[in-house]
Amino acid sequence: MVAAGNRWGVSGGAAVAPPDVEELNFELTDDQRRVRDVAREFAEAELGEKIAPYDERHEFPHAIVAKLGELGFLGVLVDPEYGGAGLDYVSYALIVEELNRGDASVGITMWAHNSLCTNHIALFASPGLKRQYLPPLAQGQVLGAWGLTEPGSGSDAAALRTRAALTGDTWVLNGSKAFITNATVAGTAVVMARTDPEKKSRGISAFILEKGMPGFSAGTPYRKLGLHASDTAELIFEDAQVPAGNLVGERGEGFVQAMQVLEGGRIAMAAMGVGIAQAAVDAAARYMKQRTAFGRTLAEFNGLRGMIADLATEIEVARLLMLRAAWLKDQGQPAMHAAAMAKLFASEIAMKAATKAVQIHGGAGYITEFPVERIFRDAKLTEIGEGTSEIQRMVIARTILGD
Ligand SMILES: Cc1cc2nc3c(=O)[nH]c(=O)nc-3n(C[C@H](O)[C@H](O)[C@H](O)COP(=O)(O)OP(=O)(O)OC[C@H]3O[C@@H](n4cnc5c(N)ncnc54)[C@H](O)[C@@H]3O)c2cc1C
Repeated sequence: MVAAGNRWGVSGGAAVAPPDVEELNFELTDDQRRVRDVAREFAEAELGEKIAPYDERHEFPHAIVAKLGELGFLGVLVDPEYGGAGLDYVSYALIVEELNRGDASVGITMWAHNSLCTNHIALFASPGLKRQYLPPLAQGQVLGAWGLTEPGSGSDAAALRTRAALTGDTWVLNGSKAFITNATVAGTAVVMARTDPEKKSRGISAFILEKGMPGFSAGTPYRKLGLHASDTAELIFEDAQVPAGNLVGERGEGFVQAMQVLEGGRIAMAAMGVGIAQAAVDAAARYMKQRTAFGRTLAEFNGLRGMIADLATEIEVARLLMLRAAWLKDQGQPAMHAAAMAKLFASEIAMKAATKAVQIHGGAGYITEFPVERIFRDAKLTEIGEGTSEIQRMVIARTILGD
């Protein structure tokens, strides 16, 4: 307890609350706890080892993703007026963490659907487009994809080359998008294309495309390092015909919209990192109690106990950064800087925790029988997707240096 009359001029202790106690509240609300628990129970019952066969077969788990829809997890941020759950970002981050703790392939599927495609429409589309596209997305009848990255542009997203030209009442798109999550399984996609080449980033617009529109298709799913049960492929536009009304917001606003979508997306990617890191430590702790060496369990070796303690501490830091960024978003405050910090730290902890968890397993960590092998492969994506670690450092440094 801090003594009365200290240099901060506060009494401290339980008897007198510090003046700013209400602003520093770490309690989740009952509703936030409830949704987190539902997500945790679902992940424990339906993900984890049940996903391993899908991962091995590189197969998209349609039945499991359909259950996410039944639980309302495919319309988390969507207003109830459009069929969603209308939850806050803190609740969303908690759900994303728990699902990724269960399995990151399912986690990234849900993230791209909610954070990117659905949220782009919810934030920027006209009421008519929202009425048309949000209810089936929010209720999980249709999956969503979001295309910004191209074969020639990722970090430098404003250099994208997909063209959209207005011909009568139809936009005609030509080009392609690379590395798109849910590309072959999505019924709806939001894509950014260049409408005014001379205007650089202000010449980019966003469009809603539907599976089956003439000239619009997806490529063959990539074979990936990890996230084998998620779907990632190219989106291809060959004179793709998009109704004029499917322009999202104003012409030329697509890039600015995309950057705002990424702000929320990075918070969810931070939650993905926290979930993966937690899964790694869960698995390592389980193994340490079972495995014996030199007549003792691994859990009795101080070197390994220290490793687990350090990881648990760093995961808690990542979780706090993630929740703070989500809270800022819920308060309507600028969150770009906080989201970049949370995403950077959480993704690097995910990779570190996965690496240490494999180490704690020894040889067992290197074979597919144990979950840490999959967690290790999956973790890497969090340092790449939604802006690499280098790009997050660029965003953070820019704010600090004011340039
Ligand atoms: C599994 C998976 C799913 C994905 N899902 C989607 C999706 O749904 N939608 C979507 O639009 N995209 C998606 N992406 C794409 C992802 O966002 C990009 O891969 C990422 O932004 C990096 O872009 P890039 O691959 O073109 O790398 P590059 O931009 O070519 O970067 C290569 C390297 O150079 C570094 N670098 C680049 N610029 C700088 C700089 N200025 N300073 C310092 N270093 C720099 C990068 O950090 C990286 O290390 C996905 C990617 C993967 C792998």
